[in-house]
Amino acid sequence: TRQWQLASRPVGEPTHDNFELVTVDRPEPGPGEVLVKTLYQSVDPYMRGRMRDAESYAEPWDVGDPMKASVVGEVLESEAETFEPGDIVTGDLLWAEHAVADADELQRVDPDLGPISTAVGVLGMPGVTAYWGLRDICDPAPGDTVFVSAAAGAVGSVVGQLAQLSGARVVGTAGSDAKVEWLTEDLGFDAAINYKTEDDLYGAVAEACPNGIDAYFDNVGGEITDAVWMQLNEFSRVAVCGQIALYNETEVPMGPRKLTTLIETRATVEGFLVSDYQNRWGDALRRLSQFIQQGDLEYRENVVEGFENAPDAFLGLFEGENIGKQLVKVGER
Ligand code: NDP
Repeated sequence: TRQWQLASRPVGEPTHDNFELVTVDRPEPGPGEVLVKTLYQSVDPYMRGRMRDAESYAEPWDVGDPMKASVVGEVLESEAETFEPGDIVTGDLLWAEHAVADADELQRVDPDLGPISTAVGVLGMPGVTAYWGLRDICDPAPGDTVFVSAAAGAVGSVVGQLAQLSGARVVGTAGSDAKVEWLTEDLGFDAAINYKTEDDLYGAVAEACPNGIDAYFDNVGGEITDAVWMQLNEFSRVAVCGQIALYNETEVPMGPRKLTTLIETRATVEGFLVSDYQNRWGDALRRLSQFIQQGDLEYRENVVEGFENAPDAFLGLFEGENIGKQLVKVGER
């Protein structure tokens, strides 16, 4: 069976040279373990942090080791009472075609609830991130203007739609005209800005938000956030979810400067980690799946075919190749 290992640590933008595809013996499950065949593998921006040799909220991977990923897979062999062959499961496994996992660390996926791939997307970690980050920190009220960056991504597209369901006016940024069209034509965003072609980002944000910004869900950081900052209203809320614009920087600027804005506006800025929401995970998934079933929440997946293309799928996140959740299709049931 094949797995992707970390070949070297990237400096700046990651490249193919940082990954090595190796063939290893198929592992065998021990007592309490199951052998899982990967059907879908997730690639996520936070993985960039794990390629780095620095402590962060996610532990760094070692060079020469297989990399970890959220996976949706099929149980092939089980040495645990809780699972049997044919069960569909999700969990944090490996960038691998097969992996062994402790049964306690896997969750069952109910194929009747929807496509199984959603267990690592809208009905998985990104969906829960959007749900609680928005509810707990942005706390949108009817009539508020909510701004979301990387709005056409896995997290951002859910944030924008949930904010609309709360009665807010929703504006976002995305990196292509096709994404802007999806947001405004299909998802019903009130406005969306292509930050890659917009010469005057500050002006565009101001124009798209004539009543200012009451809540900002930040996936990106950098200049987009600087432009949003200028439009924050009194008592606005900023949820700092991700800073992907900075993940490949070799020298990140040392600190926020324009904090006078926070004095003037009495705005609240709060970072959060979805892993702190373990005990409210199921509540978010239930609500999200209701919204999908009612037709109130749309989602898209960008599926890269073939395990050998997993690094391309990952690198594509930094080029904005994905609309919605970026996935790798690894195997068939
Ligand atoms: P996305 O599906 O949003 O994919 C990443 C997107 O980011 C790309 O599609 C691209 O879209 C955009 N992007 C890439 N590079 C840049 C750049 N330099 N400047 C601006 N935009 C860029 O990923 P996720 O939805 O999985 O994650 C979104 C964010 O949320 C990430 O920052 C991630 O780290 C964070 N996150 C945080 C969690 C937490 O617990 N705090 C949990 C999950 C995710 P475009 O075409 O618009 O450029």
